[in-house]
Amino acid sequence: MVVSTINGTSPLSHSNGTTIPLSTFSRNSFVNVEKGDPVAFRPYWEKVRDECTVEIKGDEWMSYLGDTNNLCWYMVPQMRDAILRLHNVVGNAVTKDKFLVLGTGSSQLYQALLYALSPSESSHRPINVVAAAPYYSEYKDATDILQSRLFQWTGDAALYDKDEPYIEVVTSPNNPDGTLRVPVVNSGVEGKIIYDLAYYWPQYTPITDQLDHDVMVFTFSKCTGHAGSRIGWAFVKDIEVAKKMIRFVQLNSIGVSRESQIRAAKMIGVICDGYKNLKSIESDHLFFDYSKRLMKERWEKFKGAIEKSKVFTLTKYPTSYCHFNKDLSEQYPAFAWLKCLEGIKDGESYLEKLKIRTRGGGRFGVDAKYVRVSMIGTEDEFIELCTRLSNAKRE
Ligand code: PMP
Repeated sequence: MVVSTINGTSPLSHSNGTTIPLSTFSRNSFVNVEKGDPVAFRPYWEKVRDECTVEIKGDEWMSYLGDTNNLCWYMVPQMRDAILRLHNVVGNAVTKDKFLVLGTGSSQLYQALLYALSPSESSHRPINVVAAAPYYSEYKDATDILQSRLFQWTGDAALYDKDEPYIEVVTSPNNPDGTLRVPVVNSGVEGKIIYDLAYYWPQYTPITDQLDHDVMVFTFSKCTGHAGSRIGWAFVKDIEVAKKMIRFVQLNSIGVSRESQIRAAKMIGVICDGYKNLKSIESDHLFFDYSKRLMKERWEKFKGAIEKSKVFTLTKYPTSYCHFNKDLSEQYPAFAWLKCLEGIKDGESYLEKLKIRTRGGGRFGVDAKYVRVSMIGTEDEFIELCTRLSNAKRE
């Protein structure tokens, strides 16, 4: 017999076809919506699991090398083709005349970019790295962890007023608040911009433009939910920047797991094949249709719970035309960004008392009355979250 204490994973399937539901929330257990582990789309991948199976034999994919004809020598051609095909299907980025750099997650590419965009002359002071608050909580630590002489975290881009070189990270849609963003720094010096487009996929936001920036970073983690594969990629205009990034990845991890690349390429292939065979397939079999519907349903339920609670307010999002879905649509961000009403100074502590674990505003460079809540966890976790939130009452 299989006994599991995992909070809210989807039912465990046995080889004999039976399932055991795993909803194990008791009044004392925490609902953990602090992290952004994107497991919400797992039921989709369960449905197409056989199509996605990848078999790797003992003698396969042994080398460090992926494609020695490509600048990004550790990327296998199947991975490159799959990424280009995906962007071609979704229409969210211009890939022509850019170098494609693969990373072990986009987290590695963030550090590779800081290295590549920093001035190389040792006489320079560390370049300032900024992002408009509320900003993704990991940028600060990922920038400062090695106390580099090349770059340093300088905080909120909106407050940046130095006439010194800088790198601005523009996350759009933004983590934590889901807003669509443009650069905000107002400086006499021209800065370098990193566009972190982790959430610029149709399930989270209407695809309004085919973006065409000098540096655009994407991640497989938030696109399909396969965060554990650790695949991220960047489109980079300047070959010198691309070369430096590749050197960073070489020194940091000597490339990117080729098993992961093969699996990611397979998953992306299944998504794209679905859209190619549109007529012969039910819409529930189309990944972005499925995942968008799921996000929409969750947001509707969540808004209902927040209204009932009368304790929080939510960010409002515009409706725009989505070129991918060919319809007018709202945004359904991967995170909800809650602001506590008057009288509650610390949202994270307040929710902790309701046995809901969240990430407080301080981590994102803003006031503690804000909290971030993951919308992409398991279904059980999400339902329990809504139940607890709708029962929340002002102290
Ligand atoms: N950027 C943003 C805005 C994110 O939210 C995340 C994941 N939470 C990442 C980058 C890192 O993603 P990964 O390393 O899994 O590609």
